[in-house]
Amino acid sequence: MAIERTFSILKPDATERNITGAINALIEQAGLRIVAQKRIRMTREQAETFYAVHKERPFFGELVDFMTSGPVVVQVLEGEGAIAKYRDVMGATDPSKAADGTIRKLHAKSIGENSVHGSDAAETAKIEIAQFFSGNEIVG
Ligand code: GDP
Repeated sequence: MAIERTFSILKPDATERNITGAINALIEQAGLRIVAQKRIRMTREQAETFYAVHKERPFFGELVDFMTSGPVVVQVLEGEGAIAKYRDVMGATDPSKAADGTIRKLHAKSIGENSVHGSDAAETAKIEIAQFFSGNEIVG
């Protein structure tokens, strides 16, 4: 399988509970390498752009409010089949449906405050990485 890069966010519920290291440990144990990482406070504009695909969904306002409610850690993860692998490590969107051992099963608070984001496809990974990182910030 090819080496890929995917985009990850450790969401405000994770920074608030000081569990970013615990989540990074699960990421690394899965064989993914954190090749870029920074802690930022997302602006409303950044969050609205990032989640534009969900603009018409009833939870959009709540989602933007949540993502701008505290610091987040944005990351680029690298590894074999990184996009699908990270989705597996994250678990289902709703933590009550997430498989045992996944980040969301272990740490998520609810379907909204679910600790992590991971890109769902190669094309979105590329766009999402470019929204938050310039090339020289990614060191593989
Ligand atoms: P993901 O790819 O597993 O993150 O899930 P989606 O792309 O479907 O949704 C994006 C994000 O929107 C999720 O991770 C949640 O934070 C949020 N979200 C999804 N569904 C709901 C919902 O029913 N209520 C709320 N409040 N947030 C939701």
